[in-house]
Amino acid sequence: MSKTVICSLCNSKMKEESFAEHAKNHWKENEAIAYFKYAEPQYSPKQLDALEQIGALEEHFGYGRWFTQGELLNMTAHTMNALVEKGDLEEQNYKELSYYRIIKKYGD
Ligand SMILES: [Zn+2]
Repeated sequence: MSKTVICSLCNSKMKEESFAEHAKNHWKENEAIAYFKYAEPQYSPKQLDALEQIGALEEHFGYGRWFTQGELLNMTAHTMNALVEKGDLEEQNYKELSYYRIIKKYGD
């Protein structure tokens, strides 16, 4: 099973093999070079897929935005709940829908 890594520049979580591609996003930022560290606890492939999709959404539409499960491909409420419990997402209910947002963990 692939390991989970965290990007040193934006704190995004992803599968280890996705990191090289992800790091290209940072080439323009002050010539900073991103590196990764291994994440704890381990995430399931499904949860990593969700985090990667959310990271891509944020990159496209802006950081800190709220989104619904329906904006992610092949995602279940079970996976979303697991990410809330792990402290990666916060959840808010609005008009009978659950909205989620990434909690950035800075300073580690
Ligand atoms: Zn990054």
